[in-house]
Amino acid sequence: MLKTIDSLGELRGKRVLVRADLNVPLDGTTITDDGRIRAALPTLTRLVEAGARVVVISHLGRPQGAPEAKYSLRPVVGRLGELLGQEVAFASDTVGASAQDVVAGLEDGRVAVLENLRFHAGETSKDDAERLAFATELATLGDAFVSDGFGVVHRKQASVFELATLLPAAAGQLVRSEVESLRKVTDQPERPFVVVLGGAKIADKLGVIDSLLGRADRILIGGGMAYTFQKAKGFEVGQSLLDESKLDVVREYMERAERDGVELVLPVDTVVAPEFSADATPTVVPVEQMPADQEGMDIGPRTAELFGQKISDAATVFWNGPMGVFEFESFAKGTVSVAETLSKAAGFTVVGGGDSAAAVRTLGFDESLFSHISTGGGASLELIEGKSLPGITILEEDTE
Ligand code: ADP
Ligand code: MG
Repeated sequence: MLKTIDSLGELRGKRVLVRADLNVPLDGTTITDDGRIRAALPTLTRLVEAGARVVVISHLGRPQGAPEAKYSLRPVVGRLGELLGQEVAFASDTVGASAQDVVAGLEDGRVAVLENLRFHAGETSKDDAERLAFATELATLGDAFVSDGFGVVHRKQASVFELATLLPAAAGQLVRSEVESLRKVTDQPERPFVVVLGGAKIADKLGVIDSLLGRADRILIGGGMAYTFQKAKGFEVGQSLLDESKLDVVREYMERAERDGVELVLPVDTVVAPEFSADATPTVVPVEQMPADQEGMDIGPRTAELFGQKISDAATVFWNGPMGVFEFESFAKGTVSVAETLSKAAGFTVVGGGDSAAAVRTLGFDESLFSHISTGGGASLELIEGKSLPGITILEEDTE
């Protein structure tokens, strides 16, 4: 059981540090998808209503331990204020004079955001002592800590792990609902249990296949992941995304699936294009006939239909990774089709992965059509793999 906000006791007038994940995609200073800000609202609203002085901490992008203007959290503050219906204060540093002033000036029920945590090397340092030192500075700004950045709970970072050891700590609403939903998928899922994998990060995701081979009834593979499987089967994959170093691993998975009676479903056709661009001409080809000079950009229509059949009778579905380059309209059809099938499926449907979640939203699907849309890519995959996550373990109640 995760420690709850209730366990922190009376919060009126208390300074509560909230680790949120406000790492939204930006185009300059324009937020292109505010899903992560919205996901932080239940916890923030609850703390505001309890009269706490709410100090939000987050990272944005990948600065290298020093300030960089393009990674400032400033653009996020206005949107957060609109969604909360109150003006939100902003500190132009993370633990410096500005942060101390802003926190000291907070009234009960008001919210402030501190500048990007990753402007400090201590946040992500591999050195335990450096992380602890930074967490200790952060801890001076709060009386209690609420961990709600689900996207980072798989990381042993100062604001995720060490901070939780220094202050009375609890899991926020987002972290709790994420963990609950994902555990429904991992702990005795209702069957048939179908997993749909795609996207581009092949090496990261092979571990998921490994662990799911013993648990899922069907694993459907599309997106940029599929070509490594197709190549392993001896097919031409042209210029498609490919991880040559994983061909043996993938072959072993295919054998294991066969032996253990897990249905491993691969694409039967692919949409190819002569180059990776939005206006490249799409052509549908069977997977056995991919031209050597073209690149696979999406699953084909027969595959989309096949995947639809394999998903529609599922009692539990976990989907991670777009089926194609959905950012380009001509290559979004496979992803749209899978999203549509999932949105109509009667079973418990979970979408995990940063780009997958963004795809569902930008392609116009209402979030309520899915049982759960995870805000954490790596974190949701690691939970699904059955790993223990430092940022979760540290929030577990002591059970004696
Ligand atoms: P998630 O964030 O959901 O875990 P990934 O980060 O692994 O997913 O992959 C998302 C990216 O995969 C998208 O930007 C999409 O354009 C890309 N992608 C999907 N299919 C292909 C493909 N056939 N070729 C190249 N990129 C692809
Ligand atoms: Mg991604």
